[in-house]
Amino acid sequence: MKYIPPKFSKLSEMAAIDVGRLTEDEARTILEGIRWPKGIFCPHCGSKKVTRIEAKSEKVRDGVIQCNDCKGQFTVTVGTIMQRSHITLRQWVQAFYSICSHKKGVSALQLQRNLGLHTYRAAWHLTHRIRTAMKQEPLAGLLKGIVEVDETYIGGKPRKGNGRRNKRGRGTEKTPVMDLIERKGNAISKPIEKVNAETLKGAIREMVDKKSTIMTDEWKAYRGIGSEFLGGHGIVNHGLGEYVSGDISTNTAESYFALPKHGVHGTFHHVSKHHLFRYCDEFSFRWNFRKVSDGERATQAIKGIEGKRLLLKERGE
Ligand SMILES: [Zn+2]
Repeated sequence: MKYIPPKFSKLSEMAAIDVGRLTEDEARTILEGIRWPKGIFCPHCGSKKVTRIEAKSEKVRDGVIQCNDCKGQFTVTVGTIMQRSHITLRQWVQAFYSICSHKKGVSALQLQRNLGLHTYRAAWHLTHRIRTAMKQEPLAGLLKGIVEVDETYIGGKPRKGNGRRNKRGRGTEKTPVMDLIERKGNAISKPIEKVNAETLKGAIREMVDKKSTIMTDEWKAYRGIGSEFLGGHGIVNHGLGEYVSGDISTNTAESYFALPKHGVHGTFHHVSKHHLFRYCDEFSFRWNFRKVSDGERATQAIKGIEGKRLLLKERGE
């Protein structure tokens, strides 16, 4: 059979094999199309009157665009999480696609190998930048309808040989993560400092729309939250997977709760408490876009590259 190479148009319609073949120019076209769907505009002044600099000289970077109004120059990476990175655009696109298409994520080590990056550190920064793009904003009132709330505990394997048994659940030394999930809808996970009424209720107040119904287990820290929401507060037994009798959709919530926990243990073996929120952002993002194609999920993640402050402390730099 004669091989006919695919025509590259939209990332949302591409399969992994084609993303792997992208040239630098094709990757740039894809990124520009996602960042500026209605045409390129200057990130400095907003002008749409721009000119592409088509210089043959090796001194001029590829993809430079000049603003006809403020005369400022920019590329597709300026003002995004990709700015000042030494990673090529085709590696960026592949990294986004890869992380978006693996249900449990991709470790930095795996990405380093797949993309041919020189250092583990470069891959590590790359993955964290992509997680920053995946962060959903704003969170205020994001979740609606019937919202299940529960906590899971991640990391901190028990020390062996000291005779102490690792406690499970509330009271453990593992990092508590709060999961909030709409029935059949979006989810948010975030690590919390303390598992107490103040923290749990604070997070619910922030992220859940006031017309919603809150579903939690019978733990006393949640008591009283129902008076603040139009739908009130329903008590369920999360431990038994028994949310509301006769409602089969609760399996969705169960499968979400398991994701960050298994992902962190299975894919990312050493997640520090400090960076755990990034992994939570990644897992909720993939969940919230679970019904679209891998390419569309990657496109949605790339849309988040702009306007995000990167709060990464560049270790050792
Ligand atoms: Zn300008």
